[in-house]
Amino acid sequence: MATDLAKFAADNGVKYFMISFTDLFGGQRAKLVPARAIADMQEDGAGFAGFATWLDLTPAHPDMLAVPDPEAVIILPWNKEIAWVPANCVMEDEPVEQAPRNVLCRLIKEAAAEGLHVKTGIEAEFFLLTPAGDQISDEYDTAAKPCYDQQAFMRRLDVIREISDHMLELGWNPYQNDHEDANGQWEMNWDFDDALNTADKHSFFKFMVKTVAEKHGYRATFMPKPVEGLTGNGCHAHISVWDAPGDKSKTNVFAGDGEGQTGEVGLSERGKHFLGGIMKHASALAAITNPTVNSYKRINAPRTMSGATWAPNTVTWTGNNRTHMVRVPGPGRFELRLPDGAANPYLLQAVIIAAGLSGIRSKADPGKRHDIDMYAEGHKVRGAPKLPLNMLDAMRAYNRDKELKAAMGEEFSAAYLKMKMQEWDDFTSHFSAWEKANTLDI
Ligand SMILES: [Mg+2]
Repeated sequence: MATDLAKFAADNGVKYFMISFTDLFGGQRAKLVPARAIADMQEDGAGFAGFATWLDLTPAHPDMLAVPDPEAVIILPWNKEIAWVPANCVMEDEPVEQAPRNVLCRLIKEAAAEGLHVKTGIEAEFFLLTPAGDQISDEYDTAAKPCYDQQAFMRRLDVIREISDHMLELGWNPYQNDHEDANGQWEMNWDFDDALNTADKHSFFKFMVKTVAEKHGYRATFMPKPVEGLTGNGCHAHISVWDAPGDKSKTNVFAGDGEGQTGEVGLSERGKHFLGGIMKHASALAAITNPTVNSYKRINAPRTMSGATWAPNTVTWTGNNRTHMVRVPGPGRFELRLPDGAANPYLLQAVIIAAGLSGIRSKADPGKRHDIDMYAEGHKVRGAPKLPLNMLDAMRAYNRDKELKAAMGEEFSAAYLKMKMQEWDDFTSHFSAWEKANTLDI
């Protein structure tokens, strides 16, 4: 592992570093630093005006310093003289509490103090569009059920193969790629890992997919619902908890046959309570996992052209059945199907840990398991909460959830709610074609 970035540059022929941090809205911000200056930057960080990004800072704040995490450095597979390195934000020698990577690092430490090490895998779906972003890039990709379409795959093999080759080279252990359920939609899977590694890989994956797509004349988007009537971009998370991080982990703390229905599907008592935390905080955590106005056109959506949205609308869990918010596909892990492509990679992992820890501490019960097809028979379920109908409902639910707000950090929660409410106000004050069409002649 690289600990000295100047030496890393000399050993690997790296000429520049992209020191990158992620703001509250998931935007990745970077400075390109020549290798000659990296020794000082590794020590002191690269300076940014925090107000210029979405971090709830003012123009009067001192310089924000992005201190690179040398353990997470990645040489760009498509330009080997440049290395990307995620950074932690610091101001006047103190961590910027609301900065997403700091939020996640703090929660990982809290979980570790209780002997819990969360590992996750994510499925970051995306579309390949034309450069203007208004059409699917492949005009022949029009089938009603395009999932796994072999011929459409061949027409985008150049892009998908190139990204897959990069992941192989990076040692991420990619294992499958497919045309997803919407026209123009793709999914690429790689091995699960410790939560911070997965968050860094998730960030880099988005950067890599967009870059490779641009090179081929396309535009990649992770927008939750980029095309009306088609399945949206999910970012399902597969979650398990272990006794130790990295290669040291031996025992899956979630695996077991605890009491009741969760035991039947192979979850231990702690697994049950972690799941209980996710269920208990679901409406509030949607503010993080489904963070945009557009997110709510993916969940709560009418049936899509392919026949299913593949997105939940109710807080329910089940065994191996994809129509619920949580699926327990096998012993020792579960899949949260709520997050979408707009989820901030760091906050996504952070809120899973925050909700899960809260569940373990309060011995939360995930409630009854439902084995029905929720898309066809969801109306028969009594008492299960509905997910928020829009971003405002989600932010209000988050604001009401004192326990989750505290777990995510009061400074973070205040900054996030403030920035997101400003975004909501901006959205509601814009004039849409719909309102004119429906109001002009009233
Ligand atoms: Mg998928």
